[in-house]
Amino acid sequence: MTFSLGLDIGSTTSKAVLLDAGRSIVASRIVPTGANGRAAAAALRDAVVDGRPADDLRVVSTGYGRALVEFADRAVTEITCHGRGVRFQHPDAAMVVDMGGQDSKVIRLDSDGRVEDFSMNDRCAAGTGSFLDVIAARFHLKVEDLANIYLENPTPFDISSTCVVFAETEVVSLLSQGHALNDVLAGVQRAIAKRVVTLIKHVGVAPPVYFSGGVAQNETIRREIEAAVAVPVVRARDPQLAGALGAALIAAESR
Ligand code: ADP
Repeated sequence: MTFSLGLDIGSTTSKAVLLDAGRSIVASRIVPTGANGRAAAAALRDAVVDGRPADDLRVVSTGYGRALVEFADRAVTEITCHGRGVRFQHPDAAMVVDMGGQDSKVIRLDSDGRVEDFSMNDRCAAGTGSFLDVIAARFHLKVEDLANIYLENPTPFDISSTCVVFAETEVVSLLSQGHALNDVLAGVQRAIAKRVVTLIKHVGVAPPVYFSGGVAQNETIRREIEAAVAVPVVRARDPQLAGALGAALIAAESR
């Protein structure tokens, strides 16, 4: 049987999407990448294929570790795959904002869904999920709960440090001065949003904007970006799987 597999080997998580011959998603999975991206890729493939008679399996890899997938027929950049995946789910998408564990990207699409322009930050953790992970771990919180804390108290404190290491110190110092944890955590999320807003402005905002990647599950950051760019910013469907879906679609097209 014919299947197309997209594998997105990210710095933090690895994702797989398996499509059937009719381009319907038959299986998907998200696992931590860990120290061995090569092993994560093989395990993901076996988990989503799950014994199906995949005698005709096309594989496209993407993500930071895409070159590690030795059994892939092709490796394609995350920019192309995120654009492709989001556009498939949302045919009106003009711009994709992808925030992952260690980088963030802004992609503007033309009317045919091709990448027209993009901007990327992979140098500074302050505009990525790793900032959330560091702060959540520091306070023994779950990263998925950070957004809810802000929802209870919408008075974010201004975090002035532009580097995660200094920002962590600043957060601890603000708390020792008696500022409320909610306000400080809200400030952290606003600071992350501000970073990606700079990238959006660099490329030139094009509505509607869809938000993908693991961080897109954070409703506070979505709202902060939306407020700053003053156009609708919509959480993409299954946002963390967008790159793997795009890779699977490219695999399907390569037949
Ligand atoms: P990558 O592709 O770079 O490995 P992902 O797109 O998988 O990254 O995103 C991983 C990041 O998403 C994590 O660093 C974490 O901060 C964030 N994240 C994961 N799950 C959630 C969640 N439920 N709510 C908010 N943020 C999340």
